[in-house]
Amino acid sequence: SPYQPSPDRYDDGMIYRRAGRSGVLLPAFSLGMWHNFGSGQAFSNVQRMAHYAFDRGITHFDLANNYGPAYGTAEENFGRLMERSFRPYRDEMFIATKAGYDMWPGPYGNWGSRKYLTASLDQSLRRMKLDYVDIFYSHRHDPETPLEETLQALVDIVRRGKALYVGLSRYPLEAARFAFRYLAERDVPCLLFQDRYNIFSRQPETSGVLSLSAASGSGFVAFSPLAQGLLTGRYLDGIPQDSRMAAGRSLQREVLTDAMLERLRALNDIARQRGQTLAEMALAWLLRDKRVTSVIVGASSAAQIEDNLRALENASFSDDELARIDALSRE
Ligand code: NDP
Repeated sequence: SPYQPSPDRYDDGMIYRRAGRSGVLLPAFSLGMWHNFGSGQAFSNVQRMAHYAFDRGITHFDLANNYGPAYGTAEENFGRLMERSFRPYRDEMFIATKAGYDMWPGPYGNWGSRKYLTASLDQSLRRMKLDYVDIFYSHRHDPETPLEETLQALVDIVRRGKALYVGLSRYPLEAARFAFRYLAERDVPCLLFQDRYNIFSRQPETSGVLSLSAASGSGFVAFSPLAQGLLTGRYLDGIPQDSRMAAGRSLQREVLTDAMLERLRALNDIARQRGQTLAEMALAWLLRDKRVTSVIVGASSAAQIEDNLRALENASFSDDELARIDALSRE
């Protein structure tokens, strides 16, 4: 039987925040498809997580050309979802993809050239079975390519109707400053700046890029908000077989030192005193800052998404809690 989304999806507690100075509202939580949505997963679980997210008001789906982890396979599964369930709801969805990392062999499948970005987005659209994406990102700054070339390619992609908005991911401060101005002058302002931000990774605060994006009218989205699963209860009692750390691709066992475990247990105690899981607290901590438009969370099950959404129930912190969290965020 065809997918019927929950009729309550917009009356179920989701909060929507405006992306910078734009017309776009995004859910406080977005679904990130870097891991667990590609060829290594049973499609039934991919489908369950995607449906669950949409049923709970998560309208924003974050992909990239190389997500899977097998390149292209998260987008292929997303295309399957479009065909099987989401097509009637396309206009209720905000779909992101990116290019900037290694994707195909040879000199044109990586970094920031017009050649790569243009071809990659065309491939992404075919895999995802879409005519356009809502936002297309330059996935990283390319120090070898003139920034004007990368940015003009983004502008032209919008002019051709292949993306409605553009975004930047992990640009260093000065490149971001140049890019915000360049794009705004061409009437294709940066909609979203994407960076790693969590209790342990504070660079967006210290580099000034969080302030800069707000001042420039760009929204800000936080990725790896749970430090890839570290800032959850997942590793408090060992390394589960089905965890990202056990797979060992992007989250290494070496990070789980005794000192790290001690910090995690202390953070877990603060969370428990707040009546939250550690994952819920780590996500709530990001939402306390109104400059954070949306938090992009990964998941390996619908139950994790359900847990994460409960963060919305308590996203305010006392000064004492914030100070204790700050102390534990430093190594
Ligand atoms: P997160 O910090 O969101 O961690 C996700 C992992 O945490 C899950 O896979 C799961 O691990 C675990 N987890 C999630 N919820 C819970 C819970 N409630 N309880 C226990 N464990 C939980 O990391 P990601 O690195 O996946 O980042 C999220 C998204 O951000 C990506 O999917 C991607 O869309 C985007 N991103 C963008 C980047 C960029 O360069 N622009 C770079 C990195 C990410 P497990 O699988 O072990 O169950």
